[in-house]
Order: sequence, then structure tokens, then C-alpha cells
Amino acid sequence: METGIYIHLPFCHRKCLYCDFLSFKPDEKTVDDYTETLLKEIKGLSDLIKTRRVPSVYIGGGTPSYVHQSVIKRIMECVYENYDIMQDAEITIEVNPASADINKLRAYKGAGVNRLSIGLQSADNRELRLLGRLHDYEDFVKTFEDARLAGFNNISADLMTAIPSQTMESLKSSIDKLTALGPEHISAYSLMICEGTPFEKIYGEASDGMSGMEHRPAGKLPDEDTERQMYYLVRNELAKAGYHRYEISNFARPGFESRHNTSYWERKEYLGFGLGSASYLNGERYSNIKDMKEYVEYYGKNYDGKNAMVPYKDELMVLTQRNKMEENIFLGLRMDRGIKLSDFHEEFGCGLMDVFGNTVSKYCESGHLSLQGGVLRLTDKGVDVSNAVFSDFLN
Ligand code: SF4
Repeated sequence: METGIYIHLPFCHRKCLYCDFLSFKPDEKTVDDYTETLLKEIKGLSDLIKTRRVPSVYIGGGTPSYVHQSVIKRIMECVYENYDIMQDAEITIEVNPASADINKLRAYKGAGVNRLSIGLQSADNRELRLLGRLHDYEDFVKTFEDARLAGFNNISADLMTAIPSQTMESLKSSIDKLTALGPEHISAYSLMICEGTPFEKIYGEASDGMSGMEHRPAGKLPDEDTERQMYYLVRNELAKAGYHRYEISNFARPGFESRHNTSYWERKEYLGFGLGSASYLNGERYSNIKDMKEYVEYYGKNYDGKNAMVPYKDELMVLTQRNKMEENIFLGLRMDRGIKLSDFHEEFGCGLMDVFGNTVSKYCESGHLSLQGGVLRLTDKGVDVSNAVFSDFLN
């Protein structure tokens, strides 16, 4: 059996205005304490998957490139020492153009990392400033070129749509600049206004769109229709440039689809390490501790270095057969290849149409789903309202 590994580094130089990820600016001692604790956790939980092989490792954040490269090297050594990492495993690290340099990138390569995910978001410096990003487009180009020099031939870049003040023209220019550089993979997400972020105060429903901006010029959010047009623009322009959409928001050159992220949509199991990381193991979904002090206490102070540790399971959900079927639908439909009815039958011992026939028929008739050759897929029309379609499959 195969199980992926996710490792969370919750550090950033400064919080972007839209960000609700678990991240903050640490002092030096916090980075040291966290690193030591994380290594103990990685080692102490290895028995959980000791008979399984690991096809992918993903170091995310936060900003993993915030910390010194020696931290990443130690983490990777610990992973290799304690887990059965497959020879051809995909090993990704997220990189912020504001904190990556050639030395760090070379060190990642030396530590076994073979894929980079670089946060561009936009090639328009005004849009980057409005998002509160620390880097500009020129930093991204430098990081990208350094990454090629360091020997990375599998690079993903993040692109964002529905940014305040973004226009179809500025988005087209961002796409053109990015595709001219030629990363192997592009993730394109539209901006979400999340609870508790500065953007919620500025752009939340109760806001006038201007308050809370203080010294920053307020850009207007694109309306819903423009947001959809932006998605089509991304999809069409990336297709022209040779990137196929293999998931609603992810595009790749053939053979460069993200193995790690695909395993999430395929509902394969994975083990998460670090503050607030999520795991899916033995049919249970759960989260790690989210408070730094408690995390260091639990995994750092109680570990004797020899015996296996017990994972902390916050927000534990033991999946029922019905939960698994529902996940199969709403994760499987995210992927362009859709869901094979025969695979569903093989896994659950019953027909997809026997369980979800009414909902499938309703959306096939309305043109949101297609069922052809025993494969159920979301149509382009269905992608536009995918969340509404998915929620209809939930009990
Ligand atoms: S760099 Fe990423 S994780 Fe850090 S604050 Fe910005 S969006 Fe959040």
C-alpha cells in the first residue's frame, strides 16, 4: 500500500492580506523548537506506515523557503531514514520568490527535492501589492531562472484570478508572461475572501469595499461574471500553450500532473506532520494540534526518542461507507478523467447509479454531468457550478 507524506512549515515573513493558512512570523527560538519537535514527530510516528511505501512528499506552508536550507536538509534526512520513500517519489517544496535564492534551491535539490511549487499569483506588480505579497514579478523570474540553474525540471507556479483591480487584459498578460517562462505545471485558483483576514474587512459582505484599506489603494473585486470569464481565459490560454486541465484548477504539460495532489483527489491515504497538518489514515481524517505551545509540548517534550508516538487527532472523522462514496463523487469529479463506474463498483461492491442514480440523472439532463462509456464527468457547464453539483450528492 502507498501513503503520501505532507510536512507543514507554518512560517512567513508577513501575512498576505487574503491568507487564512496557518502561518505567522516566528522568532529564532520558535523556528528551532519547531524544527526539533517536527523531527521527533516524523520519527516517532513512523510505525504508523512502516509497511507502506511513500510515493510523494510535499513540504508546504506557510513559506518553507523562509527557514534556512539546513532545516529542509534535516527534515528530508529524517524522512529518508524513517520511511520507505519510493525511488521515483515526487518530492515537492513550496517556494516564495521573496525568500528563495540559488543556494537554497541547490540545497533542496541536494536533499532529494525534485519539484518546486512557486507562488507567483500575478505578473502585475500592482496586483501583487494589493494582495500584500512580498515579492514582485521580477523576483519570480529570478527564482524561476535560479531553479532551472539548480537543475529543477519540474516546476509548478500558482496563478490567481479575481484579484482586486485585475482585468481580463492584466490576467492575459500574466498568463502570457508565465507560459513564456514554461513551467511544467500551473495551479490557477480564484481569490477567496476568508473569514478573519484583512480582506474580509475590506471586501466582506458587510463592507463598503473601502474601509480597512488604510494606506493601500483599494482595488475593486471583479464581479461574478468577470470571474467566470477569467476562468475560461485561463483554461483556453493554457490549453493553447500546451497545458491540459486535469483537475478543475490544475493544468499540466503531459506527464507533469502533480502526483501528490492527485492522490488527494483519488482519496489515497496520507500522513501529515507539523502544526495543523491534516491526515487521512486507516479510514480516519483528522488534524494535528494548531497551537504552537501545545504542539511542542505534545510531540517534543513527551517523546523518549525510542518508542512509537500516538498521533494527536483533532477534528477526528471516522469515515462511514456512505462518507467514502460521497468523497469518491466530489473528489473524483474534480478530475478531468472523471469516475469510472466499474471502479466505483469494485471499491464499494454496489453500483454508483444504484446509490446516486437520481442525482446523476438530474444533472445529466441539465447538462452539468455527462455519462458516456461508463465514465461520469463534470461538463464545462458543470465546472461553473461545481460546488452546487457536489453538495447535491451529500446526504
Ligand atoms: S506567503 Fe502564503 S502562507 Fe504566507 S501569508 Fe502569504 S499566502 Fe499565506
